[in-house]
Amino acid sequence: MPNRVFLSPPHMNGAEMRYINDAFESNWIAPLGANVDLLERRVCEYLKCNGATALSSGTAAIHLALRYLGVERGDVVFCSALTFAASCMPILYEGAEPVFIDSELDSWNMSPDALRSAMSDYAALGRLPKAVVVVDLYGIPANYDAIQAICSEFGVPILEDAAEALGSSYRGRMCGTLGALGVLSFNANKIITTSGGGMIVTDDTAAAEKTKFWATQSREPVAYYLHREVGYNYRLSNISAGIGCGQMETIAGFVNRRREVNAFYREAFRSLPVTFPTAPEGSVPNCWLSVLTIDCAVSPTDVIDALERCNIEARRCWNPMNRQPKFDGCKFYAVQTDGYSSVGETLFEKGICLPSGTAMSDAELDRIADCVRATIGD
Ligand SMILES: *Cc1c(COP(=O)(O)O)cnc(C)c1O
Repeated sequence: MPNRVFLSPPHMNGAEMRYINDAFESNWIAPLGANVDLLERRVCEYLKCNGATALSSGTAAIHLALRYLGVERGDVVFCSALTFAASCMPILYEGAEPVFIDSELDSWNMSPDALRSAMSDYAALGRLPKAVVVVDLYGIPANYDAIQAICSEFGVPILEDAAEALGSSYRGRMCGTLGALGVLSFNANKIITTSGGGMIVTDDTAAAEKTKFWATQSREPVAYYLHREVGYNYRLSNISAGIGCGQMETIAGFVNRRREVNAFYREAFRSLPVTFPTAPEGSVPNCWLSVLTIDCAVSPTDVIDALERCNIEARRCWNPMNRQPKFDGCKFYAVQTDGYSSVGETLFEKGICLPSGTAMSDAELDRIADCVRATIGD
């Protein structure tokens, strides 16, 4: 059997151990420290933003970002429907009510038309959302010109879920910085990893300070233990942050390789009945995962099973949140599409994620392409 090819495995560049050794040598084995500060600075420089809070996960980052935007029990929060559950679970932590917005077919991201209908309806009810969680799915920037126009018309802040989009940009601005607050993930399968971790990024330095405070149990800065607010143990460890500092040294190379992998698939499958998403005008996606829909009778599962027989890991696309039992009864603004109840459902039923790791060799890419071509056929 040839080597296993994973979907998006971590890719260590060799620089990480230096930062971890620094932490050991200084005995700074804590959820704070020099590596945490350095990782925040490096990400701020890379994104050209003013503030960052390194946290133990992207999910924790979304949770604290929602709190900062004032989300409370009984509030409404809009969220992209086609996403990973981490985008919206924290809405439930605060006892708020998610309202899901369908995708547009080209970018797979939040449909501005569906967002506008939802805004008009909730404005009429006098229940405007406290925030709109806009996801840059698979690293493709959402359609921010249209989405920002709608959100500013109704005075609702954007929380950009850029967990998958570190290194993507929209009209010259880096993903993560397109809303009031942005969120990154450093989970093992993301563009860079800290094994597990996440970050809030923002130009609002008060937001960065406040979320750091909440993430360390809301300990008041006095010489004894004093707490006036709810707190969390959400800070990133100095060891994990060391991995991230090392990873940031080669982020440009990681993003380039993801784009090369995507360009390879587009070329290799030119004559197959498949469709890749189209990034909005003026945007440059990081191509975190290469995704496509299969426009013939072959199902995603057929291709996944065929790849598995060649020891290659591929996966279905995200199953939209409006279809999850946990979110039964939540309102959903669908975009009509041929043969399916929503665009998200179409993409789920026909979509597939192909291996997209940055350490993959050209020979492995050829193996994947041969297998996909043999399954889907010309
Ligand atoms: C990975 C991811 C997150 C955050 O996940 P964590 O595993 O908690 O870091 C959030 N949203 C999306 C869309 C993601 O893919």
